[in-house]
Amino acid sequence: MIKENLKKVQERIEAACQRSGRKTSDVTLIAVSKTKPEEDIMALYETGQRDFGENYIQELRKKHDGLPKDIRWHMIGHLQRNKVKYIAEYVSLIHSVDSLLLAQTIEKEAVKHDRVIPILIEVNVAREESKFGVSIEDAPKLADQIADLPHVRVEGFMTSAPFVEDPEEDRPFFRSLRQLSVDMNSKNYNNVNVNVLSMGMTNDFEVAVEEGSTMVRVGTAIFGERNYKN
Ligand SMILES: *Cc1c(COP(=O)(O)O)cnc(C)c1O
Repeated sequence: MIKENLKKVQERIEAACQRSGRKTSDVTLIAVSKTKPEEDIMALYETGQRDFGENYIQELRKKHDGLPKDIRWHMIGHLQRNKVKYIAEYVSLIHSVDSLLLAQTIEKEAVKHDRVIPILIEVNVAREESKFGVSIEDAPKLADQIADLPHVRVEGFMTSAPFVEDPEEDRPFFRSLRQLSVDMNSKNYNNVNVNVLSMGMTNDFEVAVEEGSTMVRVGTAIFGERNYKN
């Protein structure tokens, strides 16, 4: 069941790539496994899936400890500074950096493990009150400041578009974030290359791919509905 769901999502990504003249290999599918058991992750692992996304530090640590070490773990949820130390050693990409203070903490923890931690800046493109992230206007400055930290590498932007019935409504938000990355790359800010765009979830990943997403974060369409009481 889960394996078939994964395959269907992969096929939908391929179709969206074809529609928009993009290469399927340019889009990474992150299976968002929060609240889901390790067996579910292993079922997908067996098919070759390696990128998984988690929101909660405790859960991420537990899964990392119990599962194969070649899984690439993506931290996609809001990250508190005092929790960075628990994931700094192995996290593949932190998608949710929205302040210089958080980036400075990541820098400090990265040094301890003698590594460079790749990050994305979370942008609240639609300016929703309920969401984390900086505004589109503030993103270049934050990227520029973070670029001065030697053990943190800004690779691009992440956004969660508003939950809407018709995903077409989110197209302009995806388009503006992509435009931001194009503008920044052309100005060559502080040698930052913002090529990664983490955008698109179960409800809107096809539109996001058509608008240039390079990483989609899909949970429900693969694992089914979440039960937060578990
Ligand atoms: C939970 C979550 C997802 C996955 O959402 P679905 O709608 O289940 O695909 C993606 N991104 C973030 C930041 C999330 O918290």
